[in-house]
This record gives sequence, structure tokens and C-alpha cells, in this order.
Amino acid sequence: MNKQKKSIFEMDIDELKEYCVGLGLPKYIADQVLDWVYKKHQLSIDKMKNISKKNQAVLAEHIDFNIFKNVQSVTSEEENAIKSSCVLEDGNFLECVVLKEKNYNTLCISSQCGCPVDCKFCLTGVVGFKRQLTASEIVKQVVYAFSINQPITNIVFMGMGEPLLNADQVFKAIDMLTHPKLYNISKRNITVSTSGFIKGIEYLKKHDRVVNLAFSVGSADPIKRERIMPVEKRNPIVDFVKVLKEYQSQHNRKLTLEYTLLEGVNDTDYDIKSLINLAKYLNAKINLINLNPHKKIPYKPVSIDKIHAIQSVIKKQKCAVTIRYKKGQDITAACGQLGESYLN
Ligand code: SF4
Repeated sequence: MNKQKKSIFEMDIDELKEYCVGLGLPKYIADQVLDWVYKKHQLSIDKMKNISKKNQAVLAEHIDFNIFKNVQSVTSEEENAIKSSCVLEDGNFLECVVLKEKNYNTLCISSQCGCPVDCKFCLTGVVGFKRQLTASEIVKQVVYAFSINQPITNIVFMGMGEPLLNADQVFKAIDMLTHPKLYNISKRNITVSTSGFIKGIEYLKKHDRVVNLAFSVGSADPIKRERIMPVEKRNPIVDFVKVLKEYQSQHNRKLTLEYTLLEGVNDTDYDIKSLINLAKYLNAKINLINLNPHKKIPYKPVSIDKIHAIQSVIKKQKCAVTIRYKKGQDITAACGQLGESYLN
């Protein structure tokens, strides 16, 4: 990117208006540009017909409309997932996945390049931390999905990274994506996933951020949890859950417990009973995810019969439970599998 140019995707409405005024353009130009970019999905300045040629030239000189340096997209065999590996300006990668449902599309987006949290069942954890993503790089993942004719209605922050370790940029991006003049995505259709950072929930409370949360449990038993999720050391689940419960009682938004099943590790009767108790305490839905195996991950998934047996045990206890099926596993786009670009 030309160093003097500012990316259109790093500016919210007020910032863009101010920038336009600074360029000697009228404020209303900002509204016109946003309408072209976010409503009409037009990223070529010379095709923004209601902007004069003279003003187009000023915008072209000072604003960058590019998304990523390079993108490689692969579609899963069943055509229900598209994984995109996107090269950033500094050569780092991010990955995002369109998950196609019958009537809507969800985008699983990344909040960091790699991840410092090191959950032992996650490929992104194997990659390690490279750097934080900016709000602009987060927004661009959605812009890219629209540019390949995949209109996005739902967003899950379950790609690479721990979103609550990059909360300022994540919530700036959420404010942009939900703004009526931009994509106007419903806040109720956005879920932020966390591996359990106490400071992250305190951030939400302090900044009065109301959001659907997904909590990656790993194990409800602290000793087992520490083995597979080192985050447990500094953020004991017992303390985290207290803070989470308080947050939930203030808002009444959806809470999901994500539970990645690892054969012989967290799949015993005791493990499932502990999970059920946790779900009841937090009034949360349980989402069972069978491990997506990979040669770099030292665990195995449970059998199909086992996952269904676990589901019926949970149902009998009158807890809401779903099984997340492995959309996009053949293109390593399934849960916990992002980050391959770094390993190849
Ligand atoms: S599961 Fe999430 S928090 Fe844990 S290592 Fe993977 S990306 Fe990071």
C-alpha cells in the first residue's frame, strides 16, 4: 500500500468525514463512498458514478480501497465452506471461513495472526502468536466475503486468535460492521469466543459491551483443564466463571459452552457431569465439537457413537446441546484448524 494513503477500512464514519474535510472535500462525500463500498460492494473509485471525476481523483490519491495483497480461497467438497488465506501488507497471514447454511452465511473471522494462548487441541496454538490484527484487517475479512458473492449475516470470532486479547480492535471492527450505514449486521448475530480471560470479561463490563459469548471450556475440571489449556494457570476456571456469571446476569445474551472432545482426556462420565453442572450454573447451551485431527495435534477425536451418547446424557439433564459438524474439514477450515498457511 502507498504509505501516504489511508485504508478506507480503517476509518469509521466520523473518521472518514474528518479525513474528507482535511482533503478539501465536502463531508457528504464520505456518505457516498460508504454507500458504494458497503451497500453496493463497489471498490473501484472510478465506478462511483455520483462522485465527480475531480473528487474521484482526490480520493484515489489519498484513500486505499484494496483488501488484501493476495488471497487464496478453497471450497470444501460439499461446497458448504470456503476457506480464504489472506496475505497482509507485512507478509503475515490471516485465515477466515465462510460457513454456508441454507438461508444465510456465517463468517468465522480471525482476530490475531496466530494465537498466544496455546490450547493444546488447536492448530492455531501450534502456530504461536505473530501479531494483533487491526480493526481494518478484521473488517476486510467481511469485505472480502462480500466481494466473492458471499453476503454475510452472521459473524463468529472463532478464527485465529483470542479476541478478548485484542478487544479494542475487535470492538472497533464490530462497531463498523454493525453500523446502519455500513453492513448493518445485527449485533445479535455476532458471537465472540473466548478461552476464558478474566480481564476480557472485565473489559466488556467496563466498556458496557453487550455481546453473545462462546466460552471454550476444554475441561470443567481445573487440573485437567490446565493440561490442555495453559490459560487456566492465570485464569482459573472457578474465578472466570464467577465473573462470567455476573456479566451474564447483567445482560441476558446468549452464552454457549464450546466443548472440544478429546478421546480419553475429557470424555468420561465425570467430565460430562462437570460440564452439565457448569452449563446449568451459567444457564448456557453446550456445543459439542469433535476434535479435528491433525498430525501436529497430540489427541484423537471420540467416535461418532460416543459423541451421540454424550449428547443424549446431556439432553436427559435438560440442558440445550448441539453437535457442531465438521464443516470444511477437508480444507482444514474446521474449528481449531486455522493457521495452516504458517505451517506450510
Ligand atoms: S482455541 Fe482459540 S484461544 Fe485456543 S489456541 Fe486456538 S485460537 Fe487460540
